[in-house]
Amino acid sequence: MITIQKQGYGGIVLPAYGIGLDTDQAIVPHVFISHAHADHVPRNRHIPVYATPATAALMKARGFQGEVTETPFYSPVSLPGDVTVTLYPAGHILGSAMTYIQTPEGSVLYTGDYRNPASPCTEGFDCPAKVDYFITEATFSLPIYRWKSHEKLFDRLRTTAIQARERGEVPVFLTYNLGKAQEVMMALAPTGIPVQIHGAGYPLCEIYTRFGMDLGAYTRYNRKSVTEGALITPMSTLDTSMVTSIRKKYLTYCSGWAALESRRAQLNVDQLIPLSDHIDFFELLALCRRLAPRKIYLTHTPNPDVLLHYLRNDGLDAESLDLQGNDDA
Ligand SMILES: [Zn+2]
Repeated sequence: MITIQKQGYGGIVLPAYGIGLDTDQAIVPHVFISHAHADHVPRNRHIPVYATPATAALMKARGFQGEVTETPFYSPVSLPGDVTVTLYPAGHILGSAMTYIQTPEGSVLYTGDYRNPASPCTEGFDCPAKVDYFITEATFSLPIYRWKSHEKLFDRLRTTAIQARERGEVPVFLTYNLGKAQEVMMALAPTGIPVQIHGAGYPLCEIYTRFGMDLGAYTRYNRKSVTEGALITPMSTLDTSMVTSIRKKYLTYCSGWAALESRRAQLNVDQLIPLSDHIDFFELLALCRRLAPRKIYLTHTPNPDVLLHYLRNDGLDAESLDLQGNDDA
């Protein structure tokens, strides 16, 4: 039985093998970072880590200063103790990786955040056929979360933008600067509508295009010309002059949380599109059934009980790492 421990909110440690997964302290010698979202990148910006080349570029653009051993997908890293670590594409954001660890005691797959079917704005999704210990995020761990296909959601994004322009309005998409923003840009690219992007998201788009993603025509936010196309900016700017100064606009919030009725009532926007870069409840369940690991550990889940019930009903051994009795439980 491999010892798997949660460290703080995000990180996981395999102490016997000196391996950390999204850990933020140098408590083990080998730390693998799944992707560049802030809740997975070490708060200590100086520790040495392993990450894919795209994740390394995104982390550095956001201020990470530690040494990154760039580890492409499917390129095994050999570690002491007869251990091999291989990164698999996670389909969540550019560069996002699942970490597959083969040890003499069995194999471990840590998902980080992931999406299957993959976001079209990533390198895809793929995972090993056999896994003994499966550590999976379960952000959307209730059966109310069943996503529509990217094809349908991208169609809806395009229709939203085209119709807003026809009405003389600026389509404003409120979404995260890393990952979702680029997904919306990729969806809008075929419309030819020029897109402006929030200043913090702009340099990340350059990394996306450098790694081969087609985001269409875009420029950094410019107050003078923003009315000529569409704007993509985080939700936090909704009440700032960046958005309020646009007189005629159509506001769309893009997030998996848009599926929540209560979230819809809270937000002062014209439309919510449930575009998520996480796996939904049913895909997660299907993957657990397919892998049929010896043990499943859930992490990053606000509500593990329902999913645990489904998994155990299938005869799968599952527990929530968030409830393991650490400070953040
Ligand atoms: Zn993420």
